Amino acid sequence: MNNFDAVVIGSGPNGYAAAIAMQQQGLSVLILEAEQETGGGTRSAALTLPGFVHDLGSTIHPLGAGSPFLSTLPLDRFGLEWVYPTHALAHPLDNGEAVLLKRSVAETAQQFGKDAGAYQRLMQPVVDHWDDIAPDFLGPLPWPKHPVQLAQFGLRALQSAEGLAYRTFEEAATRAFIAGLAAHVMLPLNSLASSAIALVLGALGHRIGWPFPKGGAQAITRSMDGYFKSLGGRVETGRRVQSMADIPTCKAMLFDITPKQLLNIKGLSFSTLYRKQLEHYQYGQGIFKIDWALDSPIPFSNPACGTAATMHLGGTLEEIALSERLVWQKKHPEKPYVLLVQQTQFDSSRAPEGKHTAWAYCHVPRYSQIDMTAAIEQQVERFAPGFSDTILARHTMHAVQVEQFNANYIGGDINGGAQTIFQQFTRPSFRLKPYRTSVKNVYICSSSTPPGGGVHGMCGYHAARIALKDHF
Ligand SMILES: Cc1cc2nc3c(=O)[nH]c(=O)nc-3n(C[C@H](O)[C@H](O)[C@H](O)COP(=O)(O)OP(=O)(O)OC[C@H]3O[C@@H](n4cnc5c(N)ncnc54)[C@H](O)[C@@H]3O)c2cc1C
Repeated sequence: MNNFDAVVIGSGPNGYAAAIAMQQQGLSVLILEAEQETGGGTRSAALTLPGFVHDLGSTIHPLGAGSPFLSTLPLDRFGLEWVYPTHALAHPLDNGEAVLLKRSVAETAQQFGKDAGAYQRLMQPVVDHWDDIAPDFLGPLPWPKHPVQLAQFGLRALQSAEGLAYRTFEEAATRAFIAGLAAHVMLPLNSLASSAIALVLGALGHRIGWPFPKGGAQAITRSMDGYFKSLGGRVETGRRVQSMADIPTCKAMLFDITPKQLLNIKGLSFSTLYRKQLEHYQYGQGIFKIDWALDSPIPFSNPACGTAATMHLGGTLEEIALSERLVWQKKHPEKPYVLLVQQTQFDSSRAPEGKHTAWAYCHVPRYSQIDMTAAIEQQVERFAPGFSDTILARHTMHAVQVEQFNANYIGGDINGGAQTIFQQFTRPSFRLKPYRTSVKNVYICSSSTPPGGGVHGMCGYHAARIALKDHF
């Protein structure tokens, strides 16, 4: 085997980000990927019928387009084209209304009646100071460069989503909208800091929109792969690393995998304390996912739903909170909170002419094998009567199958670990630079490090910066 400066194990968005950040410095970097295709959670395939392109994992990418690192890369030169739906998000309600996340904070606020002023006061500062907040928030325990802005954001973000919604808003629609945004974090909505994700996703919606790649999420992977190789990087697929002996000689190894997998790599002799910390790492709950091939667009009762790609289906704050709470009690909600994306409303390249795709998931207990198809489709029918008649074919994955598709999704947890306040800045171990392990040339660069789940590449970028400082 050749010698390399650095080897990255795993080719998810964080693996590529780490590899690119090092290759940009003129090092020789190798990526070893277990599967036959690179991309981890960011891949696409014809899961249902010929001619239909579905995203196996991630599909909506505000965190990618807004990433302080990925946005500096010339990925457009390697085929990445962002599609911007008219509105970021629609949240339909049983009374026939649908609340939209629009680019303008003021126009979004206008939908919230008595809460209009409160919504503007909450969101506008986050939107205005996003460029200052993002680098501090999307990384390890910060030594903030913009302490005032971060403190103002932190005071709001530290609250539970339920607390924030009830204290700040009076209208059911506003509370539901906040709950739908917050539920992305996959925690009970009374958890400390569960409002942070609502502020981040809301602010990104206002600031840049919630785009997705034309032709499928795979375009993100392809463009990162193309750019990495153009810099001289090398990628080998079908190379599952099970032992240190599987890795060529190099100065630094960066693992784009989670603690449980890292503990199983033979020949890695971590200190007892570090090993214990990894053993106590807390994983989150799982997901049940469906992809549909559709004969026509989803017939939402409220036509405004056709102006957004992403839908939050779950009704009121109380219903969404119940759904998330039940999952943490190891139960399967009858009326789950469903995240649905209708890509072909804005990207006709993903289906044969006149046909459509849709993607959805709901949260379930980790390792669940329960089929949630009926529960999810009932939630869609609730806001789009006649939806079932449009289904040509479907593909489903329960939580265990989600882990089979990608070994990083332990028990179906797509965030590489629970996004609790205790694990937000110091995952997977309590260190100032949690990318370092107790072995001096071994790093962890997956979403099990700050800032956690999502396609933003920031975990990989931060890990690479530290490895570069330590060894090169
Ligand atoms: C259904 C679903 C929907 C999602 N939706 C979104 C979304 O809309 N927007 C968003 O931003 N994020 C979304 N995510 C989350 C996002 O995909 C992940 O947070 C992201 O992929 C994490 O990137 P990563 O590089 O840390 O790890 P991964 O993408 O998980 O990549 C890890 C890679 O390591 C490889 N690997 C594992 N073990 C080994 C080994 N021993 N040897 C070699 N290689 C190995 C795996 O095969 C994989 O390719 C979604 C995920 C899923 C599954």
